[in-house]
Amino acid sequence: MQEAGKAAQPASYGPGLHNVILTFYGRYRSRGDPFDRDQPEPMPNLYEIPEFLLIVAITYIATIAFYLVSSLLVLAFVKRFPERRIQKTRDGFKRAGKDIRQSLKGQTSTGLFFGAAMYIQWNGLGLFGTDDLTWWNAVPWFAGLMVFYDTWFYWQHRLMHTKWFFRFHQVHHRSVAVTVWSSESFHWLDDATTKVFYTLAAFLTPVPMAALIAFRIFDMSKSTLGHCGHEFTASFLTRLPLPFMCTTFHDRHHSHFRVNFAHTFTFWDRLCGTIETDYDQQVIDWEAQGKQQG
Ligand SMILES: [Zn+2]
Ligand SMILES: [Zn+2]
Repeated sequence: MQEAGKAAQPASYGPGLHNVILTFYGRYRSRGDPFDRDQPEPMPNLYEIPEFLLIVAITYIATIAFYLVSSLLVLAFVKRFPERRIQKTRDGFKRAGKDIRQSLKGQTSTGLFFGAAMYIQWNGLGLFGTDDLTWWNAVPWFAGLMVFYDTWFYWQHRLMHTKWFFRFHQVHHRSVAVTVWSSESFHWLDDATTKVFYTLAAFLTPVPMAALIAFRIFDMSKSTLGHCGHEFTASFLTRLPLPFMCTTFHDRHHSHFRVNFAHTFTFWDRLCGTIETDYDQQVIDWEAQGKQQG
């Protein structure tokens, strides 16, 4: 007869890497002391590995669908305004096929790391759980994600421009005159080092799942607009003293390489001296051109 308390021990786990991983995973999920042998352990659920892969696959498919649909919509719109084209003498569309193929490959990293974030939240595996989204916490969470993601993106991007990592990042810089199709065209390692932000946010903070999804939609929309090659967003919001950026900001990063690294705000570039020196004047010029064209 087995002693009481040992009945729940996972005698059937047996050796093998697969079972070792499941054993530790089961202990972690129990949130108990992993060295307390008397604590009952939940049985590992073999269906959870396919569940993880399913979430990764859904994330990948949703990302690609968003990329294709948002790009086609933005493209149909901007084509009606050739006077708003930022780089008037270069044709980025010659690379469209290559950019789309690279996006299909590179976005596997988004599928994996954003999918991991969804899996963590779905299963309550974050260190501090997951908050419910309320009217009171929606804005602070979204603003917090904007500030922290911008900081993460700026320094990841600076790292990608060092001699050790530029060989990965240059995949994205093959588009000098950017188009909507360049927006997700990254080497998988470049994309992974950006999108791991989402996995860490889900694991280390109680960010509500809806806030994380909303922020990811904002991130993708921002990328599509930032690579559309046409200026529509230049305004007082996108120059000093306000911190936002217009489409020209990232467009000039592609044509000038060593300036304008950030994602949402201009303050890291201003602080570190990497903003293009006449950026604010460029915004003013676009505003004046917009007023002339009515
Ligand atoms: Zn770059
Ligand atoms: Zn870019």
